[in-house]
Amino acid sequence: MLTLRSKALDTVQNRKTISVNPPSVKISDYFNINVFNDDSMKQFLSKEAYNAVTAAVKKGEKIERAIADQVASGMKNWAINRGVTHYTHWFQPLTGATAEKHDSFFEPTDDGRSIEKFAGGALVQQEPDASSFPSGGIRNTFEARGYTAWDPSSPAFIMEGSNGKTLCIPTVFVSYTGEALDYKAPLLKALHAIEKSIVNVCSSYFDKNVTKSFASLGIEQEYFLVDEAMCIARPDLMLTGRTLVGLSPEKGQQLEDHYFGSIPPRVYDFMVDYETECYKLGIPLKTRHNEVAPSQYECAPNFEEVNIAIDHNQLLMDVMEKVAIKHKFKVLFHEKPFAGINGSGKHNNWSLITNTGTNLLAPTKNPETNLQFLSFFVNVIKAVHDHADLLRASIASAGNEHRLGANEAPPAIMSIFIGSQMTDILESIFSNKKASNTNKVTSINVINIPDILLDNTDRNRTSPFAFTGNKFEFRAVGSSANCANAMIVLNTIMADQLNTFKVEVDALIKKGNKKETAILEVLKTYYSSSKKILFEGNGYSQEWVKEAAKRGLNNIKNTPEALNAYISKKSLELFVKNKIFNKVELEARYEIMQELYVKKIDIEAKLMAQLAISHVIPAGIAYQRNLAENVKAMKDAGLPKTDCEIQVNMIKNLAQHIKIISVNVDKLLSEIDKAHHLSDSHKTALAFCDKIKPLFEPIRKSSDALEFLVDDELWKLPKYREMLFVK
Ligand code: ADP
Ligand code: MG
Repeated sequence: MLTLRSKALDTVQNRKTISVNPPSVKISDYFNINVFNDDSMKQFLSKEAYNAVTAAVKKGEKIERAIADQVASGMKNWAINRGVTHYTHWFQPLTGATAEKHDSFFEPTDDGRSIEKFAGGALVQQEPDASSFPSGGIRNTFEARGYTAWDPSSPAFIMEGSNGKTLCIPTVFVSYTGEALDYKAPLLKALHAIEKSIVNVCSSYFDKNVTKSFASLGIEQEYFLVDEAMCIARPDLMLTGRTLVGLSPEKGQQLEDHYFGSIPPRVYDFMVDYETECYKLGIPLKTRHNEVAPSQYECAPNFEEVNIAIDHNQLLMDVMEKVAIKHKFKVLFHEKPFAGINGSGKHNNWSLITNTGTNLLAPTKNPETNLQFLSFFVNVIKAVHDHADLLRASIASAGNEHRLGANEAPPAIMSIFIGSQMTDILESIFSNKKASNTNKVTSINVINIPDILLDNTDRNRTSPFAFTGNKFEFRAVGSSANCANAMIVLNTIMADQLNTFKVEVDALIKKGNKKETAILEVLKTYYSSSKKILFEGNGYSQEWVKEAAKRGLNNIKNTPEALNAYISKKSLELFVKNKIFNKVELEARYEIMQELYVKKIDIEAKLMAQLAISHVIPAGIAYQRNLAENVKAMKDAGLPKTDCEIQVNMIKNLAQHIKIISVNVDKLLSEIDKAHHLSDSHKTALAFCDKIKPLFEPIRKSSDALEFLVDDELWKLPKYREMLFVK
């Protein structure tokens, strides 16, 4: 019988290219056409409705019910014009995926006919029941109902299928009692907090014209592409998004011939196709290239306001997965699909921008604005220093655990890279140290940061949090993550820090200090108390692990422990004070994240057992049988025993590995059972981390040894070289 593996190889070699026809040669011709954007609003809304929506977006004002009816009607007309039949509230529950439940505009009437209807009520709020989404216990204790509520700051858009179109309305998802059950609700609160604190600091000290601001985010998305047929033949890739067994190929990424290499034609077609869909949805994709590992790629959009950037990233992943089906690919967003070669991350490029067009993290020549830059820059360092554990928690997941602290990814130690020029500048201003080499810095009284900073190309790829000239790049975020977790934390700690900064500076001013002196004084204490988080060296090195320990920086390698930072007293205070989460919400979220961790590893463990028993061991046994027959034939032919030694040793060797696998699979299954019977969820999560995960290793090692030994014809699972190099 033909194995799935050989079928897959055959299929891949016979793949035809899929032609892609973007609506126009010029992207600008169709960019945003599927978005209810400013232009379409002007066209389809009354002046009154248009103003109401704009005020809601710009000033967070509430939209009255009567106006909502008008907006809904305009939106419906726009959508129907574009061939839409259904609408849905589009939200981001804590599963990590996006959720939608479609309703049609179509409504039968009493006279046996029908109309297309979409009222304000359906736009503003819905009750999708949706009781199966994770709630961390919130909904068991109170009411099972969950509500979705319109987020006017993110525009509605049309999702196109090959046989129909749906109007999607971005919403938050909350419980009957008002607790957040999604990523967006707390994110919006965190973004509100950061905006308020920026405006407060800027307008008080630096620029009266700053009345609004936003946090910006540019998300680089790494991913792997594997042929669909290969995936079907690999149950582990299908169900968990990563390979649980598999011998590393002789050639992986050593030659570095994939990075920025020419894009394979089939992949190129896929890229053009999903990019086209993304442009229609207003996702401003800008770059595409091959990444370091074979079959690994990356794309990045232009940066946008955080809420929109995250909606767009969630949408991007969804679009990519759908378009991939057409091209017979499977997109792997998992942080570590293949052992032994690079994993994937999602770099979060983050900055703070004002309504006056100033990037607060971009240094300039002007001394006045330099003090502003310096203030924001040092406050970021202080915030990250003070809440490093919480930031670490915000990126903790079962998938990212394979990356953080492993050898080729940002370490689990939170540190900040700022480059030699910024280091010099901070040292000279705050520690009165003379600047080294060419970086000219004048004294503390003349706050003058030279312009050369903008050409700063200092790069450190090993830092989890790096300053890259005019923004910080949070690199430790996992490739499959919803960036909201990281952005809720980052923006909250920054907002809180800026508020403290304001209070402390004001206190010094009140004592009679000049504004500039007060600011510098406060920044100086921040710098000296938090500079231990700054690290310029190789973050992947063992020396850093030792050095970080000496500095008292934490190195929390596993998820269950990392997540504890969410429910510390300090975090609770932070979130409650800034009105991001209440205690119930925070504890629920913590429960959900632990639960998700357990579920992911539980699935992997059971699948590992299944693969071992039904794929790996049978291949070993089949080969053993062949060898045994061979030995018997040799003996029958009258050959002396010594001539059969090699075969006999191979049989023994196979038997050894089969035994190791079998023994550890039994252990694995019994540990899973035990873990599920533990008294609390944290203990269960720890058991999955400390007892169950380690058992993957001997099973995998022996399975990979069998893959090395067994006759290739008998091996049923596609091999790494086939998944990574055949396309
Ligand atoms: P690299 O791979 O060198 O880090 P990329 O071009 O792949 O660079 O990604 C850089 C990302 O940073 C882009 O998404 C870009 O839009 C974003 N970016 C640039 N300036 C800012 C800013 N001020 N705030 C947030 N993101 C920014
Ligand atoms: Mg980058």
